[in-house]
Amino acid sequence: MALDDILTRIRKAEAAAGRRDGSVTLIAVSKVQPLDRVEAVLAEGHRVFGENYVQEAAGKWPDLRARFGPVRLHMIGPLQTNKAKPALDLFDAIHTLDRPSLADKLARLVEGQGRCPELFVQVNTGREPQKAGVLPEEADAFVARCRDLGLPLSGLMCIPPEGEPSGPHFALLREMAARNGLNGLSMGMSADFEDAIAHGATHVRVGSAIFGARSYG
Ligand SMILES: *Cc1c(COP(=O)(O)O)cnc(C)c1O
Repeated sequence: MALDDILTRIRKAEAAAGRRDGSVTLIAVSKVQPLDRVEAVLAEGHRVFGENYVQEAAGKWPDLRARFGPVRLHMIGPLQTNKAKPALDLFDAIHTLDRPSLADKLARLVEGQGRCPELFVQVNTGREPQKAGVLPEEADAFVARCRDLGLPLSGLMCIPPEGEPSGPHFALLREMAARNGLNGLSMGMSADFEDAIAHGATHVRVGSAIFGARSYG
């Protein structure tokens, strides 16, 4: 089973990096995957999943949670401010805190609910115009602003540019997290999660290597 293979590779990468067994969380990214593939991974016992779209996640996870029991859900796609409320109701973690307006909105909602998901600030390490995330030089100020708003932060997240080695981006993210006193590093996907673990990833987001290729048809 692909899940076992990925978990084995994660444990090996942890050992190779001199890191504690189990120090990396595998987020199985199930966006746009057929339901039977998701059910198969749940049946294998995995309980940590990632989704990119609030509406898609809201359409399948309440039922899957009712059938399979507690599942930790991570939001890893861009989050519109007007979807912040349903996102908070559904997700245990948000990896895409990327702008002041979203931080303000989350802070207001969290204060009202008295419950805060794990939060990661997304950094656009490759400075790509089409990609979300704060720019590297804005990250320290944005982290400080979130803390001023009373939002507890777990770490930083990045998606390195395609077609470039990921290593320098992972190293940059790690350095930015360290100087801001953040322990969480959400980085690494199907193609580069072992490299990310070598650079200190605490959360890897793996989709196609577990579920097979996505079809958006
Ligand atoms: C889709 C997605 C993933 C998973 O990508 P794979 O290459 O299929 O592992 C990871 N992170 C984010 C932010 C994604 O959107």
